Amino acid sequence: MAVRLVVLGPPGAGKGTQAERFARERGLPKISTGDILREAVQSGSELGRAARAVMETGKLVGDDMMIGIVRERLERTDAQRGFVLDGFPRTVLQARALDRMLDDDSPLAVVDIEVPEEAIVRRLSARRICGSCGWTAVPGAASCSRCGGELVQRRDDAEDVVRERLHVYARDTQQLVDFYRDRPTFRSVDGDQSPDAVAADIAAAVAAAVRGHE
Ligand SMILES: [Zn+2]
Repeated sequence: MAVRLVVLGPPGAGKGTQAERFARERGLPKISTGDILREAVQSGSELGRAARAVMETGKLVGDDMMIGIVRERLERTDAQRGFVLDGFPRTVLQARALDRMLDDDSPLAVVDIEVPEEAIVRRLSARRICGSCGWTAVPGAASCSRCGGELVQRRDDAEDVVRERLHVYARDTQQLVDFYRDRPTFRSVDGDQSPDAVAADIAAAVAAAVRGHE
């Protein structure tokens, strides 16, 4: 049976890293919207050209176009055994479209990585990058381990900006989480643990979701 996983979670919850890890361990493609948008644009497909035109105006790619690009990606052979989606769906409309794309017997596991706001603020506001080469510093390091450069904080990681991003995320995704919450294949995972513990919980959640579906 195909393993299909949607990973949800606020910025700073480690969603991308966990999605990547799960995909690698299972030999599945990790499909993130940023990557497939870039790929679609590079491929020069009709949708890719349309997406490029939208992005060149500085706008976000709308639901219909994003759905089309994800559908094209999921039709490729490597996604037939399963996939991990990161960044899609982002709206209830996209979630409904995804259900229609997957019109067969394999379950869609949805894992929501939950981390308290204070923990994310602590995590992100402690993050430093190298002002010279952009490398993300090891927590607690005094200078860049790659080039010795001075460490600085990204504007995006400042506490007030992190809180604002979290509020925007919560506002935008509440309906999406509500859309999935009552399904037997939905699980919440505590993201305020070590990366290994979170990965183990995600694996258990997916196994339970697949069993719950049978
Ligand atoms: Zn550096």
